[in-house]
Amino acid sequence: MQRKFLAPVLILVALLTLLAFFGMRAVAAPVMSLAEGQNDVVQKEVYLTFDDGPSTVVTSRILDVLEEENVKATFFIVSDRVSKREEVLKRIATNGHTLGVHSASHDYSRIYASDAALLKDISTCADCIFRITGTTPHVYRFPGGGLKDLAHKQALVEAQGYRVVKWNAVCGDEEIPHASPKRLLEETIATSRGKHSVVLLLHDSAPHKATAEALPAIISYFRDNGYLFKKF
Ligand SMILES: [Zn+2]
Repeated sequence: MQRKFLAPVLILVALLTLLAFFGMRAVAAPVMSLAEGQNDVVQKEVYLTFDDGPSTVVTSRILDVLEEENVKATFFIVSDRVSKREEVLKRIATNGHTLGVHSASHDYSRIYASDAALLKDISTCADCIFRITGTTPHVYRFPGGGLKDLAHKQALVEAQGYRVVKWNAVCGDEEIPHASPKRLLEETIATSRGKHSVVLLLHDSAPHKATAEALPAIISYFRDNGYLFKKF
C-alpha cells in the first residue's frame, strides 16, 4: 500500500471500530434491560390451604406428601374433630405448617347465630389449637365463606387480631361430587390459570381421600409452572 493512503485508511479503520463498539452497545442496551427486567417479573406463588380437618387418614396422608415434596401449607382446623386426633394436629405444627382457625362446630346455624356466637366459635377453636400445640393461630377462614354480611363479620374477626384468608382457586373436592384425583387436578388448573398469587382451597376431612391422592400431581403442576409454595 502506498504511504499516502495509510493515514486515511487508519482513520477509517478507527472510525469503523468506534462505530462497531457504540453500535453494539446500542443493540446490547435493550437486551440488557430485558434481562434486568426479568428480576422485576412478579414471582408466582401458591398457598395450599386445607379446610375441615384434622382427620386421621386423610390429613396424615397429606402431611406425608407435603413432607416428601418439602412443601409447607396452611390448615384451617375444625376443633370439634380434634378429639382422638391430637397427634395429627401436633404433627401439622411440628412439620412447620401454619395452623389456622376454621371453626369449633362447623355448624353454620350455630356459628352465624349472632356476633357473640361467631366470636365464641372462633375462640373455642383457637383455645383448642393452643392447648394441644402451644401455637396461637393468627389466620382465620370463614366456614362456608362467611355466608351473608361478610364485611361486618370480617371486621369483627379482624378486630380480634386475625387475618381473614379467602381463596381464589379450588381443587373442586367440595364442588364436584365424587371427583377423581385427575378431575381435581383439572379443576385446580382451570381455576388457577393466569393467577400470579393462587390461594387454593382443598379439604382434608375424612371423605376427601381423592384430595390426598391428587396432591402430588397438584404440587408438580405448580412447581413445573414456576410457582413458589407459601404458607400464611
Ligand atoms: Zn369448612
